[in-house]
Amino acid sequence: MTRSHVYLTTTIPYVNARPHLGHALEFVQADVLARHYRRRGNLVRFQTGTDDNSLKNVLAAQAAGVRVQDFVDANAAAFVALAGPLSLSVDDVIRTSGDPRHRAGVERLWQACADAGDLYRKFYEGLYCVGCEAFYAASELDGGRCPEHGVRPQLVAEENWFFRLSRYEGRLRDEITAGRLRIEPAGRRNEVVGFIAGGLADFSVSRSTARAHGWGIPVPGDPGQVIYVWWDALGNYVTALGYGTDEANLHRWWTGAGRRIHVLGKGVLRFHAVYWPAILASAGLPPPTEILVHDYLTVEGRKISKSAGPLVDPAALAADYGTDALRWWLLRDVPRIGDTDFTRERLVSRVNDELVNGIGNLVNRVLAMVGRYRGGLVPAGYGPAPGADALADARRRAPALTDAALAVGDFRQATAAVWAVATEANRYISQTEPWRLAAAERNGDRRAGQHLDAALSGLVGTCRDLAGQLEPFLPDAAARIAQRCGTPGGRVQGQRVQGQRVQGQRVQGQEPIFARLRPSQPGRP
Ligand SMILES: [Zn+2]
Repeated sequence: MTRSHVYLTTTIPYVNARPHLGHALEFVQADVLARHYRRRGNLVRFQTGTDDNSLKNVLAAQAAGVRVQDFVDANAAAFVALAGPLSLSVDDVIRTSGDPRHRAGVERLWQACADAGDLYRKFYEGLYCVGCEAFYAASELDGGRCPEHGVRPQLVAEENWFFRLSRYEGRLRDEITAGRLRIEPAGRRNEVVGFIAGGLADFSVSRSTARAHGWGIPVPGDPGQVIYVWWDALGNYVTALGYGTDEANLHRWWTGAGRRIHVLGKGVLRFHAVYWPAILASAGLPPPTEILVHDYLTVEGRKISKSAGPLVDPAALAADYGTDALRWWLLRDVPRIGDTDFTRERLVSRVNDELVNGIGNLVNRVLAMVGRYRGGLVPAGYGPAPGADALADARRRAPALTDAALAVGDFRQATAAVWAVATEANRYISQTEPWRLAAAERNGDRRAGQHLDAALSGLVGTCRDLAGQLEPFLPDAAARIAQRCGTPGGRVQGQRVQGQRVQGQRVQGQEPIFARLRPSQPGRP
């Protein structure tokens, strides 16, 4: 059965430089979805890769005076290595240079579109931005400059292969308006629908081998031309699954899969929401089911650039502040719509407010009270405690709220549902004042003792719940909380505390779940 299969991808970054914080945002978003759907019982394949065949890589390697393959190998290794510091649960990485699955698949994709009559040669003259690897119409430029890169595009005139995009106008519009291809957020869907309504022109899908500096995959049967890098890069989503090399696997994760989800940045929306589904349609393959688009990060008020160095290096930030802290900032401080400015101060205050004072403090308080009042054994077998209705509500509602938010790629909303549970639990402790129940119990009030048992039992249950619900967002912290709080149904022990017999499961640990961060002196928690 493949309907429960979820195939989830990030875009494959150019490896003309080392990874920056913007890449981390996309990786962490996709990782949260992968972990979330696994928890919901889906079979998930979380796919990433690197775009090695870009002309940008060639130019950057030449500027650095390094062989192209050595240059892309070194940068690609830095991207792959991010899985550690970001705690990414990646299942597979495809590199478009050298991976035997890729070239065979791209050639097959080309052939399938050629067989459909959708590829033809045409003389072409256009304005080309190397940064975007794309042609621009004069009307799309910003004062004659590329809207993404702010540089003047070069005039390119040559005979290239073209893809008959115009043929797929109606079909693309139908797929999007019928929701077979869902684009989130809605503003981005409207942008795509508007672009299609403006009329789709055929686009160039190859360039001369000379202009490509001989780098990339040659057009089958036309060695003077190299397949345009976007075609090549988009192809990774199916070549990684075995398109052209492993039909059974392709069926499992693409043709027969229930969901095919691409996570991407706003700058590459048109390639993914227009060109890619059209190429797939031409090749007789179904479109992605969902496209989740994120906006950009700036750092200290500036666009992220290579010269920003360690300030935007996700591995360095994770080393300074910890993986949980960096992930929490990316998920909690970045709204669904709009660019977000990263500063160390914002990360530190978000983490101290919510992880240290909120969730961490909750778990530590609860475990300390279980230690103090019940010798570290969680009272077992108690029903809902008096006054815990609001907390019970927050716990009950959180999973559905998280599901709904993640379905539209709203990570801030999703974490808000989990955060609400911690807030309610802390409020419940302030209202219940377990220390007063403990004092009354010591003075012989048995009902207070039963109330305390029920409260502690419910609070440990809440912390276990939080560990589960946090897992997609903060896998490392979730594991620490779960380890301290034990699992429901664990071994029940008995002991005497202050002359009374206590029975329950053991919980442990005094160490804080999260260490408080200081902005001026970054320290590993
Ligand atoms: Zn550009």
